[in-house]
Amino acid sequence: MRIGLLSDIHANLEALKAVLEHLDAQGSDALVCLGDFVGYGPDPNECIDLLQSRLQAAVVGNHDQAAIGTRSIDHFNLYAQAAIVWTEQVLTPGARAYLVALPLRADIEGTLLVHGSPRQPVDEYILDPRTARASFLADAFRIAFVGHTHQPAAFVERNHRVSARGLLPEVPLPLLPTHRYIINIGSVGQPRDTDPRAAYAVLDTTGPTVTLHRVPYPVDETQRKMEAAGLPVPLIERIALGR
Ligand code: ZN
Repeated sequence: MRIGLLSDIHANLEALKAVLEHLDAQGSDALVCLGDFVGYGPDPNECIDLLQSRLQAAVVGNHDQAAIGTRSIDHFNLYAQAAIVWTEQVLTPGARAYLVALPLRADIEGTLLVHGSPRQPVDEYILDPRTARASFLADAFRIAFVGHTHQPAAFVERNHRVSARGLLPEVPLPLLPTHRYIINIGSVGQPRDTDPRAAYAVLDTTGPTVTLHRVPYPVDETQRKMEAAGLPVPLIERIALGR
């Protein structure tokens, strides 16, 4: 079974379409999303419309919660706040209802799906083995997929030791039965690892392996829409830089 894994779309329709086209060309049996459907980008409703009928599982992200008013915007930076306020105003009732119904955790084929981390499903950023270790200790999952940092990475636990590994595009990472994994699949709509191409991953349960993919998309088209929507300039600039 091949499962497409998407995260942090952030209302970037051009990036989402490019990723779905890339995935469909390879074929897949299921699709899941790890949250942050909205925030930052210009097409929140269109992204939700395109995805909701296709997703077998999805979880809520911190920007989704802020856009529907279940999280304070105080802890976001000023540019993110401006985008959240804009998103809140343009969300259709249907798109809003979809975000309201999203759970904090989900699973597919025995793997855990969360936005942030297994121990703090929405909030925590896992950027180092020490933080990953706390989640390995807190929860009994064997394989967890996360997003939130917008930086692809794999954290591997064996015999209570946790190490970080880069997740290189197009290089399948074998998932060994003796190891546990927290895998960050990067961001579709706002990558922050200096590679502006959209990121997503495919879990092949027959290996099992997980493979990261990077897909170019027309960044200038998204930027043009952001400008027309009056979204903050630093947000418009950063998607071309992958930061
Ligand atoms: Zn995000």
